[in-house]
Amino acid sequence: MHADAPAFATGLSLADARARITSIAADHIVGNESIALESALGRVLADDVVAPFDVPGFANSAMDGYALRGADLVADAETPLRLIGTILAGGTEIPRVEPNTCVRITTGAPLPEGADTVVMKEDSRIDGDVIVIAAATRPGANMRPAGEDYRSGDLALNAGTELTPAQLGVLASFGHSRVAVVRRPRAVLLTTGDELVAPGRVLGYGQIHDSNRYSLGALLEQHGVELARHERLRDDPSALREALARAADDADIVVSSGGVSAGEADYLPRLLAEVGRVHLWKVRIKPGMPFLFGGIGRTLVFSLPGNPVSGVATFLALVRPALDVMTRRRTHSMTLRARLAKPVRKAHTRVEFLRAVLICDESGSLHATPLQKQGSGQLRGVAEADALIMLPETAQEYAVGTVVEVLALPGWA
Ligand code: AMP
Ligand code: MG
Repeated sequence: MHADAPAFATGLSLADARARITSIAADHIVGNESIALESALGRVLADDVVAPFDVPGFANSAMDGYALRGADLVADAETPLRLIGTILAGGTEIPRVEPNTCVRITTGAPLPEGADTVVMKEDSRIDGDVIVIAAATRPGANMRPAGEDYRSGDLALNAGTELTPAQLGVLASFGHSRVAVVRRPRAVLLTTGDELVAPGRVLGYGQIHDSNRYSLGALLEQHGVELARHERLRDDPSALREALARAADDADIVVSSGGVSAGEADYLPRLLAEVGRVHLWKVRIKPGMPFLFGGIGRTLVFSLPGNPVSGVATFLALVRPALDVMTRRRTHSMTLRARLAKPVRKAHTRVEFLRAVLICDESGSLHATPLQKQGSGQLRGVAEADALIMLPETAQEYAVGTVVEVLALPGWA
């Protein structure tokens, strides 16, 4: 090997870079914690959940009406039944239904002993103390047997699921007030650049507002990461070196933006090698090529290029898969397929991410229209996009109608 050859991988394909990152992330799995159900929305379920008992736990009425014995129904004619009592949902005194009698019942009330059928109020009429049941009533109607939703022992939820509102409801229906979830990874976000100014402050000559702090900070939060802290740093090697080391002390992952290209003030690759190690630098993607990945102690470091679009694209393509592995999140693939609605000429041999709007036509097929603003500094392109079209490495002309892979932006649809 040449003496100057870098000790890390460079110029990897997207697939190879992702494979290296996720294999390293697999050695950085975060632990679990038990939390109250009301704070568990969107959290990653730590263990499979099995139904501890039948849900519903008892046969009950699906309607407001009258509980009766199916055997008493007269075929193809009205059936008169004597009303002998009432049972409401939550009621504990349950009258027994004897032959040729019925009991008034509300939705969710336990089916009285003897009864196996409920007739809706609307399919009956009252005649003194007799209820006349409509001819169309079928034995077994309008009752919900025990265990019709979950049988005791059913696998209800898979570990790695990002808990949805309905799933929280399921956990509650099993009697759980707490749930074991994967701890949120802690991140420190560093934005670097002499030109950066916080929003809310007046811009001087050549200055811009630090937008990455917000777009990357929000992406982290959207992916279940606890943003422990943000620091805005100047392009000053010693300040950057210190900040990197400090950040690594406080976090599971450090995400930085800026300073990873080959410009005068792009110190990150060298500094990361000094305070920790570089695993890979530069990936064959556009935008986002200068992406840098390494570690300091047990902390993983993702250094994203400063261009705002590159930041979003590299986060989704390379940071997100690492977070999925670290948190054992089942990756519901965000990759869809769509037809190109405009021709695209791709002249280079890197994977390209194009900002696109998605439309579903009347026949149910998805169409992706690349937006005008495709510059890596044009955040407007991402702000107006639903997805990133992912074109493979080969240089090629794409005709309208070509099926392409698209990476839906989080929150789309
Ligand atoms: P760099 O990766 O540091 O070479 O920066 C590339 C481009 O992204 C430059 O135009 C920077 O001004 C811009 N940039 C860097 N950091 C940020 C940031 N935090 N917010 C918005 N733009 C940025
Ligand atoms: Mg910079």
